Amino acid sequence: MSRYWTLSGKPLGGWPDEGTFVLRDEPLPMPAQGQALTRTIYISLDPYQWGYKRRGTEPKGAPCHARTISQVLESRMDGFAAGDIVFNTNGWAEAGLMGEGVWRPSYMVPRKLDPKQLGRISYGVGVLGMLGLTAYAGLIVMAEPKAGETVVVSAASGGVGQIVGQLAKSRGARVVGIAGKEEKCRFVVEALGFDACVSHLSPTMAADLKKACPNGVDVYFENVGGAVFDAVLPLFNQGARMTICGLIAHYGDAPGADARAALMARGKPVFEARGVTVRDLFVGDFAATHYDAFLNDVAPLVASGKVKYREDIRKGIENVPAAFSEMLRGENFGKMLVQVRDDPTGK
Ligand code: NDP
Repeated sequence: MSRYWTLSGKPLGGWPDEGTFVLRDEPLPMPAQGQALTRTIYISLDPYQWGYKRRGTEPKGAPCHARTISQVLESRMDGFAAGDIVFNTNGWAEAGLMGEGVWRPSYMVPRKLDPKQLGRISYGVGVLGMLGLTAYAGLIVMAEPKAGETVVVSAASGGVGQIVGQLAKSRGARVVGIAGKEEKCRFVVEALGFDACVSHLSPTMAADLKKACPNGVDVYFENVGGAVFDAVLPLFNQGARMTICGLIAHYGDAPGADARAALMARGKPVFEARGVTVRDLFVGDFAATHYDAFLNDVAPLVASGKVKYREDIRKGIENVPAAFSEMLRGENFGKMLVQVRDDPTGK
C-alpha cells in the first residue's frame, strides 16, 4: 500500500489549515509499458505548491504535487532500472508511477541521479536541483552581479536564498540578506559568509537595510514582496537589476489580487528614474538549457564545502501538511523536506 495526501475538497482559504488535506491509501500501482514504479524517499515542500492548489493546477483527487527523490522499484521505462535513485514528482505520496501518461509539470522531467555527484541525494531537489538552478538562473544568468556590487536577497536562509547569497559572494559581490528570526540572520552571516543580514521582523527594517547597504543596491533577488520590497526600493542604484523570483508574502492574498502588478506600480517611479531592469524568473525556462552547465559549475562548490546548504528535514508522511504550513509561515530553517523512508545511501 502507499499513503498519499490529497485535497479534502474543503474550500481553500488564504492559507492551508487542518481540514485542507486528507490522507488516503491505495495499493501500489503496476507500471505499464513506458512507466516505472518508484518509492519516495524525500518530498520537497515549496511555496509554489500552494499556488498550484489555489489555481487548481493538479489533477483532481491526485496526490498533492511535489518534486521528490525516489528509488525505482520496478521499471518498464527505458533508461531506468530497479534500484536507481531518481528525481521525479511522486508528490505528497509514499510511492508513485513516472513515465508515459503520468501527469507532471512539463519541465519536471524524471531524471536518474548520480548519488556520488550530489553528495546527499536530497540535494537533487535543493541546492543541486531546481532550487539551485533557480538561484543560478535568476542571479548569474539574469542579473549578472559584478565584483564590488551590492546584492540583496530576501528569504535569505531559505532553499533559494542561501544559494543566491553564496553564488553572489563567489562572484565577489557584497551580499546582504533579509530574513526573519535572529538565528536565521546569524546563520547566513556566520555560516554562509554573507556580509550582513537584516530582520524583516524588526520595526527598523528599512533603516537597518539602508545602513547595511551604504553603497546602495545593485542587484535585488526578490523572493518575498510586501514590506520587504518597499524597504529595498529607495536603495536601488542607477542601472540596478531586480529578479522577481517569488512573492511569498502574497501567496495567501484574496483570489484575483495581482501582487506583481501592485509591486510594479509602487516601484515604477524609482525604476524609471534610475533605469532599474526588472525581470521575471521562471525556472522552467532554464531547465532544459542550463541545468547541465549549472550542475557542472555548482556541484564542485558544494562538494568542496565552498557552498553550504542547510536543510530542514521532517520525518513521516503523516507530517507533510504541518511541515508545509510551517514552511509557508517561515518556521522552516533551511530547505524544507519530508523524509518518508530510509535513505538507501545511508546519509
Ligand atoms: P524558503 O525555503 O525560502 O521558505 C519560505 C520563506 O519565506 C520562509 O522561511 C520565510 O523566511 C519567508 N517568508 C514567508 N512569508 C514571509 C513574509 N510574509 N515576509 C517575509 N518573508 C517571508 O522557500 P524557497 O526558497 O523554496 O522559495 C523562495 C521563493 O522562491 C518563493 O517565493 C518561491 O515561490 C520562489 N521560487 C520561484 C521559482 C521560479 O521559478 N520563479 C522557483 C522556486 C522558488 P523568514 O523566516 O526568513 O521570513
